[in-house]
Amino acid sequence: MLRVTFHGPDLAGFPSVGFDDHIKLILPRIENDIPSFPDLSADGRTPSAGGAPAIMRDYTPGHFDPDALTLDVDFALHEAGPATAWALQAQPGQEMMIGGPKGSFLIPDDFDWYLLMGDETALPAIGRRLRTLPPQATALVFVEVASSADELSFSLHRRTQLTWLHRDGRAAGETDLLEQALARTDLPEGEGYCWIAGETLTAKRLRHMLVARGQSGQWIRASGYWKRGAAGFHDSHAD
Ligand SMILES: Cc1cc2nc3c(=O)[nH]c(=O)nc-3n(C[C@H](O)[C@H](O)[C@H](O)COP(=O)(O)OP(=O)(O)OC[C@H]3O[C@@H](n4cnc5c(N)ncnc54)[C@H](O)[C@@H]3O)c2cc1C
Repeated sequence: MLRVTFHGPDLAGFPSVGFDDHIKLILPRIENDIPSFPDLSADGRTPSAGGAPAIMRDYTPGHFDPDALTLDVDFALHEAGPATAWALQAQPGQEMMIGGPKGSFLIPDDFDWYLLMGDETALPAIGRRLRTLPPQATALVFVEVASSADELSFSLHRRTQLTWLHRDGRAAGETDLLEQALARTDLPEGEGYCWIAGETLTAKRLRHMLVARGQSGQWIRASGYWKRGAAGFHDSHAD
């Protein structure tokens, strides 16, 4: 993971309440080491890159400091892709165009328990959720990362159980670590809310497993934050 902190007066009043809100990074095209951003169309919002489509990728807004006007974004680095390439070359003083945030619905705080599952791309949202869960909440959290070196530290409430799963050399999106973890987990009694994000087929399989175990689809949010072999992918799984 690589954290980039953005700073600037345009961040004043940045509103992001839901833990899985997202922003669009509108990435500069870099030619001969010179970055250029797309022009904005007349509405001032839609990038119209003079013929070439703008390159946009979704990211979770991390910590926002309203006094310092800084916004953290955590990039899960992988082999290829313009967002990853940008993060790897990022230097102080460079600019980024940011659209959004797009809000997500707020999950009530009075479920009997919560289940959070995902890979590195879900970790920024899971981190936000862990910071905002009420202290008395029961939460089971499973996060798949490359290795123990990629674990982050969170201060956890008494009834939150966080389990790290390590790929240990296997490629992201090609393991069934989260499925195995879910299969051996007894879900708590009562009504729970399940939030899943990461590689899309994994998210879909986890959702099916939960529904098969009697969890109401209404209380599952399963999102494909990326898809093997597809660029800039986003999907939400339902029945
Ligand atoms: C709502 C939402 C919030 C998100 N929040 C975050 C966030 O906070 N942090 C974060 O890191 N990501 C986040 N993502 C995921 C991120 O948008 C994707 O991983 C995106 O594809 C990265 O763009 P890229 O330009 O690096 O790669 P792309 O050009 O999109 O993809 C290039 C290749 O890389 C593969 N690929 C993409 N992502 C991964 C990955 N994680 N591991 C391995 N291979 C991959 C693709 O399958 C493709 O083959 C979020 C996605 C959504 C929809």
